[in-house]
Parts: sequence; C-alpha cells; structure tokens
Amino acid sequence: MTTFAELGLAPDILRALDEMGYASPTPIQEQVIPLALQGGDILGAAQTGTGKTAAFALPLIQRLLPFANTGTSPAKHPIRALILTPTRELAIQVEESVKAYCKHVPLRSLVVYGGVNINTQIPILKTGVEILVATPGRLLDHVQNKTLMLTQVNTLVLDEADRMLDMGFMPDLKRIVALLPAQRVNMMFSATFPEEIRKLADSILNNPAFIEVARNATAVTITQVMHPVHHERKRQLLAHLIKSRDLNQVLVFTGTKLGCNRLANELNKAGIHADAIHGDKTQQERIKALDAFKAGTIRVLVATDVAARGIDIEALPFVVNYDLPHNAEDYVHRIGRTGRAGAQGEAISLVSESETRYLRDIEKLIGNTLEPVIVPGFEPGAAEVPAYQSRAPRQPERHGERERGAPRGRPAAVRDALFDTPYTPSDAPRPDTAPAALRQAPKKQVAALFRSPVKPDTAGQ
Ligand code: AMP
Repeated sequence: MTTFAELGLAPDILRALDEMGYASPTPIQEQVIPLALQGGDILGAAQTGTGKTAAFALPLIQRLLPFANTGTSPAKHPIRALILTPTRELAIQVEESVKAYCKHVPLRSLVVYGGVNINTQIPILKTGVEILVATPGRLLDHVQNKTLMLTQVNTLVLDEADRMLDMGFMPDLKRIVALLPAQRVNMMFSATFPEEIRKLADSILNNPAFIEVARNATAVTITQVMHPVHHERKRQLLAHLIKSRDLNQVLVFTGTKLGCNRLANELNKAGIHADAIHGDKTQQERIKALDAFKAGTIRVLVATDVAARGIDIEALPFVVNYDLPHNAEDYVHRIGRTGRAGAQGEAISLVSESETRYLRDIEKLIGNTLEPVIVPGFEPGAAEVPAYQSRAPRQPERHGERERGAPRGRPAAVRDALFDTPYTPSDAPRPDTAPAALRQAPKKQVAALFRSPVKPDTAGQ
C-alpha cells in the first residue's frame, strides 16, 4: 500500500496527516498528489467522500512551502491560492481541512462566504492569508470593496464545479478567473461532467491530466435500500425505521424547504429529535443544527440538497431520500454523504408511485437497479387516504404537498405500476468505471482526456 511519504509530501505535512489519523492515501489522493506536486493542471472526476479535498489541498500547501513565513507584515502573506466552492458549508469544511493540514507550517488560511456580515471578514483579510477558500459571490464582493487582491494567486481550485454551475455561478466564475494572473496552476473537481462543465474545463485548464475515481465508490461502501411506500405514509415509515432499527445520525433529504420544515416538526412530534437546514435558514442556524447533529444531540437532520452540500460528518451512517431527487445526479451527491472514506453506510430511499420515473433515471445513472424492499405494514398500496379525497381527480405528486385523489383500493395496480414493470436500462452498465455522463461524446481538448485510459478505482476493495 502506498504511503503519503511515498507520494513525496513534506515532513511537516506528513506529521499533520498522522495526527489526523490518515493512515494511507485514498485512490484520488494517490493519483492527484504526485501530478499536482509537479504543478500540472488537473481535472478530477470525484465526488465528495473520496478524499478529494486533501488530494488538491496537500500538493497546493506543499507548493506554497517556499513562501511560508512567520512575518507579521500583511505584504508577506498575499493570497497565493484560491479555492472556490459552491456553498458556505463546503467552504467552511474545506478551510477546516486546510487549516488542519497546515498545522505545522506557517501558512495562513481563511474562509469567506456570503450570508454573514462582510465586515467581520475584512480585518483578517487585511492581516494577510496565503490560502483563501471562498464562495464566488462573496469573493466578488470583496474584490469590489477592494478588500482583497488576487494578483499573486498562483493556484486556483474549483471544487464541485458542477454544483457551482447548477447554482448559477458561471458568470461569477468567469469574472473571477479574468482577475487572476494567467500563469497559474488550475485544479477542477466535479462529480459529473455535463457539456457546460467540459466547456468550463476547456476554458480554464491548461492541458490537464484527467483523473477519475469511480462515482460508485458508493457500490463498495454504501448499501442502497429502496422501500416502496405510498407517499402519504412516508413520514410514518421513516419514524418506524428510525425507531425499530434504532437509527442515529440520520441525514434525511427532502425536495422542498417547506417539506423539510414540516418533516422535522412531524418527527419531533413523533418523539424523534430532529432539526432542519435549508436555504431560508440563516448561516448561524445552519451551523448550530449541523453542530448539534455532529455532536449527536439531534438524531435526524432534515435537509434540502443545496443546504446539505458539503456536509462532512465522519462516517455518517445513514442517508435517507425522503423524496427522490428529480435530478439523478443529486442522488449520487446525497448518498455520497454516507460511507465516507472507506466507512460503511446505508442509503435508504422511500419511493412512492409518482417517483418511479426519477428512480429509473437514478438506476440508469448508477448502472444498477435498486431492489425494492417492502416494509410489512407499509405496502405501497396501503395508504390511509381520507374518504373525501378519494373522488378528487388525480394530480401529480408535488413535493411538500399531499397528492390529492391518491389511488384507493387498487393496491395491486399501484404495485404493478411501481415495481412489476420490467426495467431495462437503455444505457447498460459497462465494465469500465466511467459515469454515464462521461460516456457521451465530449468536445475539444477535454474530449481527448475522456478517452484516455484511466486507472480503475480500487476504493474499499
Ligand atoms: P472529502 O472527500 O475530501 O470531503 O473527504 C471525506 C472525508 O475523508 C473527510 O472527513 C476527510 O477528513 C477524510 N479523509 C480524507 N482523506 C483521508 C485519508 N487518506 N484517510 C482517512 N480519512 C481521510
């Protein structure tokens, strides 16, 4: 087994890793670190949970070691590395990791993100930091306020680039990149590679090495279970699973902010201590909920996709898809919260009839079928639908709302529709590890990289 020392990392960095209990590099670290130490551009296909933060942060820190100093003058601590992340939570976690890796070297780091008073960030920026972790919007606020300078940046990292795209940060990214010195090292990580991401990679990266670890590193560490259930009974089923299986530290995903709040309230009423995080919560509220969840004082954290992005809890044991995501890639991101860095985890999906199309998209993407496991007493047809609703016309289920006129008295038909239709993936699993999104014909420079042989991921094997 390769060691971090064999990857060429400096003793002071090795010491920090040792203290953090990192015994050996993960597959992405093994591949990225030697290349990044040489200063080459990197395009990484890796999801959260693979150890990608250390993969980019460790070589970045090592390459800054010649600049490390204990001088007090701000001029001695210009921003030399910029790490952009889509969310505040991820930014915070990345910077926490950077700080820990830098424990024995005099390099300073700082995280800046929106939603909090910008004035609290300015004094620290003024004292000088070498490594800045930022969300794009807040970074531009600082640029506009002239509270930071990017003229000495020699390394740019774009973390979770696909999510930045989803969140509409593309114009901000372009503006930021235009402010950086042309001579720099670039690393970009993304779990998925839609066309726009390939274009972005083409425009930012210079002859990058393409490094991929299987998105379904999930397959080896995460057990995926799917419970078919009538949507009206999801809450009871969830409470039943948590209580009967004595589940703790359960991260539950809902599709809407409203549904998120409601579910947390209902779980609390059912005697299960829960809290919710979503985009309408303040940063302080989110951090408080996350800390309580990490500390185990709350048992269930209900979250929307955006709010949960970047949540990093050591060996999070359970992730529940209360609502299936409409975007199949979010499924991969969600379940990536469990079974991290080699730990075991379980991803539980509660699937109602109206979600079967999302289920199929997910199965197509992961190249696998999720076996339905019916929980006795929660058979999908067994909804307790109030009589007055039974004559209303059928409408598609919407997240956060009850489906009116749900099918009644036709359990067999419901089950048929749900699970008995044979499912044949049109994009059958292939022996290679490339995610489906990568298999489409890519373009230009990055296209060549997608065709080059990649080292198969051996995580957890
Ligand atoms: P990431 O994918 O970067 O979010 O990392 C996921 C989790 O794995 C974090 O909690 C890291 O601290 C942890 N981690 C990263 N690399 C290693 C390693 N080589 N050994 C043990 N844990 C690691």
